[in-house]
Amino acid sequence: MRPDKLFPYFADVTTLPGVGTRIGALLEKLAGRHVIDLLWHLPREIVDRRYRPTVRMAESGRVATLTLRVDKHLPSSDRRRPHRVICSDESGEITLIFFKGDKGYLNRVLPEGEQRLVSGRIEYYNSTPQMPHPDFIEPLSNEEAIPAVEPVYPLTAGLSAKVVFKAVHGALEKLVPLEEWLDPAYLTKHDWPSWQDAVRIAHHPEGPDDLLPTSKARQRLAYDELLANQLALALMRERIKKQAGRRFQGNGTLRQKVIQQLPFDLTGSQKEALKEIYDDMAAELRMLRLLQGDVGSGKTIVALLAMLNAVECGQQAALVAPTEILARQHYDSIRPLAQAAGIQIAVLTGRNKGKARKQTLEDLASGQTNILIGTHALFQDDVIYHDLGLAVIDEQHRFGVHQRLAISAKGKGVDTLVMTATPIPRTLTMTAYGDLDVSRLYDKPPGRKPIKTVVINKDRMEEVISAVGRKIAEGSKVYWVCPLVEESEKSDFAAAEERYADLSRRFGETRVALVHGQMKSTEKDAAMTDFVEGSAQILVATTVIEVGVNVPEASVMVIEHAENFGLAQLHQLRGRIGRGSLESTCILLRAPQLSETARERLKVISETEDGFVIAEKDLELRGAGEVLGTRQSGLPDMRLADIAHHGELMKAAYDDARLVINRDPQLESERGKNLRVLLYLFERDAAVANLRSG
Ligand code: ADP
Ligand code: MG
Repeated sequence: MRPDKLFPYFADVTTLPGVGTRIGALLEKLAGRHVIDLLWHLPREIVDRRYRPTVRMAESGRVATLTLRVDKHLPSSDRRRPHRVICSDESGEITLIFFKGDKGYLNRVLPEGEQRLVSGRIEYYNSTPQMPHPDFIEPLSNEEAIPAVEPVYPLTAGLSAKVVFKAVHGALEKLVPLEEWLDPAYLTKHDWPSWQDAVRIAHHPEGPDDLLPTSKARQRLAYDELLANQLALALMRERIKKQAGRRFQGNGTLRQKVIQQLPFDLTGSQKEALKEIYDDMAAELRMLRLLQGDVGSGKTIVALLAMLNAVECGQQAALVAPTEILARQHYDSIRPLAQAAGIQIAVLTGRNKGKARKQTLEDLASGQTNILIGTHALFQDDVIYHDLGLAVIDEQHRFGVHQRLAISAKGKGVDTLVMTATPIPRTLTMTAYGDLDVSRLYDKPPGRKPIKTVVINKDRMEEVISAVGRKIAEGSKVYWVCPLVEESEKSDFAAAEERYADLSRRFGETRVALVHGQMKSTEKDAAMTDFVEGSAQILVATTVIEVGVNVPEASVMVIEHAENFGLAQLHQLRGRIGRGSLESTCILLRAPQLSETARERLKVISETEDGFVIAEKDLELRGAGEVLGTRQSGLPDMRLADIAHHGELMKAAYDDARLVINRDPQLESERGKNLRVLLYLFERDAAVANLRSG
């Protein structure tokens, strides 16, 4: 239960003065529904109104506060023309401009013949100074109504700076002191303010330095967030560990059968990873292991062998993939191997409905099915196992921590293996998983040829299309990835449709297939099947092909507007080719004009294929916790901490959390109780729920 003293922070934003339902909805979109969300919504810039020049000296483009005499109103009879007010000081004249200005109101606040303080942005028009829509107009006696330095908040469409400012400052009124949860020595060492002071200071910057992630107030807040996160992870981890795991040590017969069927030998790192996984499974503790391996490094076979280990012990195993296509592909590639081993596998996705679904669930509950493969559908409540021993979650960064826990709750002492192709830098792994054990597939299966990557100006589209024509004449298959024009999926998909129509005219409809996110899953599958085994040689796609799909004959990839993709995404996409024996080429089409970062990204991607190098570079270039795209990454949504700047704090929070849990596992000490408040403050309620009430 959330403590009473936090209630004001979790009140709806509409309880703040001046916030009704309409503004409330916009604020929710911008920051969140609760008062606390506004406190976390920190200013990005400042407006410094301390600049007080004379009219003649006022620099164009700068915000200035001027002392002016109001000379004359020039109202406009035409609504399209502004109401103008001529003002002056001893140095010269300036015109205040009001579009759609209310004459009565303007006459009242700017009475002719009187002096006023006016603050706003200076502009020049035909070499005369103007100030359109001043931010402040005050009598000289009311100078304190004009803030010297004003924070500027990130906005969203429909919300003005003033409204956001007012709402945030309404939220600040609600600040009440909370008992200190940080270690006093640590606090002193860094000379950090208390939590409530830190919040207040962060919202009242006095200069640009106060906006830096390294300012004391922001560091303190970032540390609070990181600590809450690490503590929550550590508590969950404790809980999982405490539920006794079971020892799974199969006799190896099924695995032997499958390994005999493989047309290849396992790589060194596959064997190492398997040894680590088998050891975990054999141990009393529950396994919680991350298998990191670049695209094409062969994670699937590792997963299958681990699952067979569980099956050999009479347990069931589940494999969860983030998309329908991937789940089906796993199913198709595992089926022949499972048949050879003589075990039953089944697939379950959102597409399975009615009777067939019921049958699948029955076979699962009776234990007839040994391995179940599927999508999120596996998390549903009515999916009940006879005896689930191992859950494997593929492309894990698409799932949240909670979903992971949800599936491991479907059995007793379930071991969990999560797999990701995203080579996550170490600091990010810690943020996302706390102390998860990690295995890495660092070598690729033998025989892979390097991919040639070229960056080409899109003006040369014709040449590229001709080259693609030559490639398909030789029998190659080609991925054609369409631009992420804007954040909107709609334009994304329109561009793909257009390219599809275009290429179909060129090469004939039967040779081109189209797949995008707005198609029904049956249509998507049909298109994929056409590309994998049908007549289609070109697959025009949006980023739905990003993860996992395996088509060894595909040797060319064209990516339009490559500059709009992130490094990690380009790397993932490119990983679709170069899987077979053919020489592969990746063509990155770029816009004629590029930003500095875009140029750098394309350079990195064309120079290396090493996922870890790319990941580190990505972190460097994009800074921020954006690297994985928090929404998709399963990374907790960090609002105050930024791993690029707070990496050191992250490590300190990790150590701090472990120390706390070792000394005071139930958070019952004085500090422990205050840390509970911290967890609630950052909405890690689930982590506190399992503690004894303190
Ligand atoms: P990912 O790690 O991206 O999931 P996959 O498991 O899909 O990679 O493997 C990619 C391809 O490599 C598959 O066709 C798979 O059969 C093949 N493969 C896996 N391990 C080996 C190996 N040791 N030697 C050769 N090919 C392998
Ligand atoms: Mg895979």
